[in-house]
Amino acid sequence: MNIQQYADYEKKLKDMSKEVATCRGCGRKLNGKPYYAGHTAYIPETNERAKVNHYGGFVCSERCDIKSSVELEVTMPGCNTIKGFNNLSTYAQQSIKRNWQN
Ligand SMILES: [Zn+2]
Repeated sequence: MNIQQYADYEKKLKDMSKEVATCRGCGRKLNGKPYYAGHTAYIPETNERAKVNHYGGFVCSERCDIKSSVELEVTMPGCNTIKGFNNLSTYAQQSIKRNWQN
């Protein structure tokens, strides 16, 4: 596709992502409205309620939950060495544990 078609395609994707819930970690589509719309989203395969990340946004798995928190905390001043769960803030760790440990 040419550059104009590509731009239209991207715009369409953006418009679509405004209407559907997506996982903040991997970007996959979920059943439901976007996080900011204040509704609940569900994992398509299992129909389970999508968990909410400590910093906001839906996540479809523990992996995506950790990834989302790492991606956010690494942007905080003095936190550029954060690589994984063990480097996250206590609050983010507790939130992830609450979401997935049971
Ligand atoms: Zn995900």
